[in-house]
Amino acid sequence: MRQKAVHKEKTELTVLKPEDTLQFSCNETLGCYTRCCRDITIFLTPYDVLRMKQALDVSSGDFLAAYTLTVMGDAGLPVVILKMQDDEKQSCPFITDNGCRIYADRPWACRIYPLQPESTRLTEKAGKAYYSIMQVPFCLGLKSERTLTLTAYLQEQGIPDYLEMEARFKAISSHERLLKEKITNKQIQDMYYMACYDLDRFRRFAFESTFLKRFDIQPQTIEDIQSDDVALYRFAMQWLEYGLLAQNVLNVNPDVMAMKKKQMGID
Ligand code: SF4
Ligand code: SF4
Repeated sequence: MRQKAVHKEKTELTVLKPEDTLQFSCNETLGCYTRCCRDITIFLTPYDVLRMKQALDVSSGDFLAAYTLTVMGDAGLPVVILKMQDDEKQSCPFITDNGCRIYADRPWACRIYPLQPESTRLTEKAGKAYYSIMQVPFCLGLKSERTLTLTAYLQEQGIPDYLEMEARFKAISSHERLLKEKITNKQIQDMYYMACYDLDRFRRFAFESTFLKRFDIQPQTIEDIQSDDVALYRFAMQWLEYGLLAQNVLNVNPDVMAMKKKQMGID
């Protein structure tokens, strides 16, 4: 059982490099077991939502409605937060007496604990990641004698998969263009939310409209995004790069282009 994104008791900062070691172990015999899964703020990434809705075998729309809250970020883009239960301890909806019921698909924030990223734009641009260790007084796992390197811990928690899956989303959501010009258009905000988090709705939008015909997309890609959420997610990120950031990552269907030119009287 691990936890979280933002915790109130972070007091010390020890920045680790990949080869540095940390001492940590978490298991159900500890007196603090499951305590960390209450009264916390967990921001969900698009890949978190994808994994969690698959784990629960529900649609993205049902998952978002039942388990999340949405707030607007600084750039005017929606940000999704895991909704805690309305009980005395504000428990995570996935906690049980036996631990996390979606442990294999728990969010990034739960995997990364007790680490906290200490990245800056410069370190990110250089492809370097630094982490500090959170100091959470009640967490007995931090008193463990199990020692492992930062790299080994990140591997153990499945973090490399998440880094790979989130890289494009991170680049889009933190793009200078969006930070300079706050998005206020509700339709764009909704398209972004759909492409990032509500993938099943994005799939319906893509297949039940002229959307796919407007682009020059390989038949294999169309087949993949029809049934594979990860392929759909990758395509959705490409669409955001094209539509939000004006990046040349999708080609317009030549027939559509020719028709437009004709309509505009351009040869
Ligand atoms: S998702 Fe699982 S690990 Fe994360 S806070 Fe909830 S119960 Fe704990
Ligand atoms: S050891 Fe830490 S992470 Fe594990 S259950 Fe206890 S408080 Fe949570």
